[in-house]
Amino acid sequence: MSRFDRRPTYDKILMGPGPSTVDPRVLRAMAEPAMGYFDEDFLSILSETRELLRYVFQTKNELTLAISGTGTAGMETALSNLIEPGDRVLICVHGFFGNRMVEIAQRYGAEVKVLSSPWGEPIYPDVLEKELKAFGKVKLVGIVHAETSTGVLQPLDEIARIVHESDAFLVVDAVTSLGGVEVPTDRLSLDVVYSGTQKCLSCPPGLAPITVGAKAADYIRNRAKKVGNFYLDLSIVEKYWDGGKVYHHTPSMNLIYALNEALRIVAEEGIENRWRRHELNAKALASGLEAMGLELLVKPQYRLPPLTTIKVPDGIDEAMVRKRLMSEYRLEIGAGLGELKGKIWRVGLMGSTSTARNVLTFLSAFGGILRSMGFKAHVEDGLEAAFKVLEGGCR
Ligand SMILES: *Cc1c(COP(=O)(O)O)cnc(C)c1O
Repeated sequence: MSRFDRRPTYDKILMGPGPSTVDPRVLRAMAEPAMGYFDEDFLSILSETRELLRYVFQTKNELTLAISGTGTAGMETALSNLIEPGDRVLICVHGFFGNRMVEIAQRYGAEVKVLSSPWGEPIYPDVLEKELKAFGKVKLVGIVHAETSTGVLQPLDEIARIVHESDAFLVVDAVTSLGGVEVPTDRLSLDVVYSGTQKCLSCPPGLAPITVGAKAADYIRNRAKKVGNFYLDLSIVEKYWDGGKVYHHTPSMNLIYALNEALRIVAEEGIENRWRRHELNAKALASGLEAMGLELLVKPQYRLPPLTTIKVPDGIDEAMVRKRLMSEYRLEIGAGLGELKGKIWRVGLMGSTSTARNVLTFLSAFGGILRSMGFKAHVEDGLEAAFKVLEGGCR
């Protein structure tokens, strides 16, 4: 017998920080045969996918497409297309992914000013306003909308007003918000917003949806100096997406099929219904955890529905809890990242993973494990509290 005899099936519940569980409809769409990148049928799938992307981004932006690569490629696209060496940029850092923006901006030669907030808190608009005045004119401000490392949903209304008054471009990381909470692209005239497919869109990883407002698009199309990254140069990538005017690189047809189907699923549900579902299930989870005797990292008004962060109680081996959830229940949750490593668990309810079934399964499995490890978890109270929230809303 060979160890390559039979492929196992991986029927795990993915309640980590992404990837989330992929709908079988999306997997079936992926199995369709690839075709040529100039094939009329494929070009019409691309054009339909852009239309669906505009719907989830809530935008009319012409320059809306999906970059080949994961969320980080979206981040790198946004920054590399707007930054020229020597540009002054301000990056807001309230978690791990803000730091990644800093790293990328520096690699493209920007003079980066960092504005930070403690992990677990948002960026406060009055602080940003002061910093912007003190730092002088900047070309771009970068901020993470949904900080997956902390579970904070960054309010954007005031931030957008301040950045626009300063005339800088506002770049927003919506990797964990797109498809899970409102991404106010047009409502707040956000200049560039990028995302990833494997979080609240419940599609496999590999594409980075991005949308660019008219002013930023105009800048990118007319740059004097070429973008410092060929693969991610939007001015060329856009020509391919515009009816296949040029060859730039071969897109993954199968990933595009998957994204197209995942976006149809979002449209069928209705984007507002989807936000409400994420909110309700996250509320049920939070109430359940608190009734069980656990503490959450983030204050209620800044909580991110697709990702909940739980403080690890004293004396509990956080890695052992994750290990047991996987081995006993085939359920994945995430560990803390960066400075929160070992201090929190991260529980995702993203896209098709955001269900009442998963909330209740997780609460009982997690509570049971904690109890067996010596933490006095009030499992029944937790389930009761979760039921109460779930019964109050429509699922
Ligand atoms: C996951 C994530 C990224 C990076 O996405 P990858 O798909 O892992 O490249 C960037 N920003 C945020 C906020 C994320 O949650």
